[in-house]
Amino acid sequence: MSLTVLMNAGPWLSVPPPGYGGIENVVATLVPELRRLGVRVVLASVESSALPVDEKIWVFPDGQFHALQRPYNQVCGVSQAHLNGVVRALHTRDDIDLVHDHVEAVGLATMAAMGSDAPPVLHTLHWDLAKHPELYGNLDGGDRVRVNGVSAAQLARAPRALREHSVGHVHLSTPLAVDADRRPTVEKGDHTVILGRINPGKGQDLGARLARQVGFSLVLAGPVGPYHRPADLAAAGDEARQNPDVRFFHDHVAPFVDGDRIRWVGTVAGRERDDLLAGARAALFPLRWEEPGGTAVVEALSLGTPVVAVARGCLPELVEPGRTGLLTTDEEELGDLVLAAGLLDPDECRREAAARFTPASMAERYVSLYERVRQLTARP
Ligand code: UDP
Repeated sequence: MSLTVLMNAGPWLSVPPPGYGGIENVVATLVPELRRLGVRVVLASVESSALPVDEKIWVFPDGQFHALQRPYNQVCGVSQAHLNGVVRALHTRDDIDLVHDHVEAVGLATMAAMGSDAPPVLHTLHWDLAKHPELYGNLDGGDRVRVNGVSAAQLARAPRALREHSVGHVHLSTPLAVDADRRPTVEKGDHTVILGRINPGKGQDLGARLARQVGFSLVLAGPVGPYHRPADLAAAGDEARQNPDVRFFHDHVAPFVDGDRIRWVGTVAGRERDDLLAGARAALFPLRWEEPGGTAVVEALSLGTPVVAVARGCLPELVEPGRTGLLTTDEEELGDLVLAAGLLDPDECRREAAARFTPASMAERYVSLYERVRQLTARP
C-alpha cells in the first residue's frame, strides 16, 4: 500500500515512553504494525524518540512531561509550539496522505483550523470528553477532520460535534498479548496492583482504603504528577503541592501507605512493570472516572492477571465478568472481589487478550479507518 501517514504523538514523552505513557505506548504499538502493512510513517514527536520510523519531525529535543505541572495556559503553549512545527511541515510538503493526530484538544483545534488545504486528519480521542465539551465542541472549519474513539463508551459520552465527525472506535492493544518473548514467567504472588497515574479518577485512595479494611496487600505503581520516584517526590518539598495529583496523593492516598502491605513504588517500566502485573492476584481499577481506553486493563489481561474494577467507561467492553475479571457498580464491593479474583484462570485472561487485542488487528482497523476518512474528505 502506498500511504504516507504523519503520526502526531505530541511533545510530552519520547516514543516508546520511558515508563508511564498512555498515548506514546499506543503509538509505539501501532506504528510497527502499520509499517508491516506497507504504510510509510512520519513520526511527529520529540527528537529523543527511538521508535523506528521512515522519518521523524520534532520541535523539542526531549519529552516535555515536566511542563505538565505548570499552569494550563503554559501546558497549551508547549502543545502549541509542537503543533506549529507540525503545521509548518505540512505546509512545505505534499507527500502526506493523512495525519493521524493524538494531541488532545489543542491538536484537534489546530488541525481543524488548517482548513481545506490540509491533508485529511484522523484524530484519536484518548480522554473522557464529557467533562470538558468546550475543549472539543468546536470543529468549525474541520471538514477534513474525523475522529475515532478508543471505546464505544467514550464516544457515547463525547460532545455532539465530535460524535457527528466520528468514524467509529478502535480498542487499544498491547504487544504483550502476542509477544511470547515478553511474557514473564513469574509465579503468582499475593499482591494486588493498581497501575496508572496517581489521580482521583483512577481511585487509588479508594483502593488503598479497601486494602486496609479488607486486609489485602496492595502495590500502587505510577507517577504522582511529574514525580516518578518516591525519593523525587520527597525531595521536591512543599512546592510540589501546587500539582493537584500531588495534593491528592498526600491528602488521600499517603495516609494508607505503610511501606509494607500498602506500598507506592513510583513509576515502573519494562520487565519490572510486566513482572509486577503478571505476579499479581488481580489488577484493581477503583475508577471514579469513565475510563476511556484502559491500556493497563488490556496489559493486565495479556499477562494473565484478572481485572477487578468499577464497571465504568470502557471496562464492560474489555472484561468478561466471571471469566477474565469481576466488575461491580458498588465500589464498596471491590475489596471482596479482589479476594474472589484468585479463583479466575490466568490462561483464560491471556487467551482472551491474545484473541481480541492484538497490535495487528488494531493496525488493520486503523488502515480501514484511514481509507474511510480519505473517502469522506475527498475533494470533488
Ligand atoms: N504505565 C507504566 N508504568 C507506570 C504506570 C503506567 O508503564 O508506572 C503505563 C501503563 O502500562 C499503560 C500506560 O502507562 O501502558 C497508561 O495508559 P492507560 O490507558 O492505562 O491510562 P491513562 O494514563 O492513559 O489514563
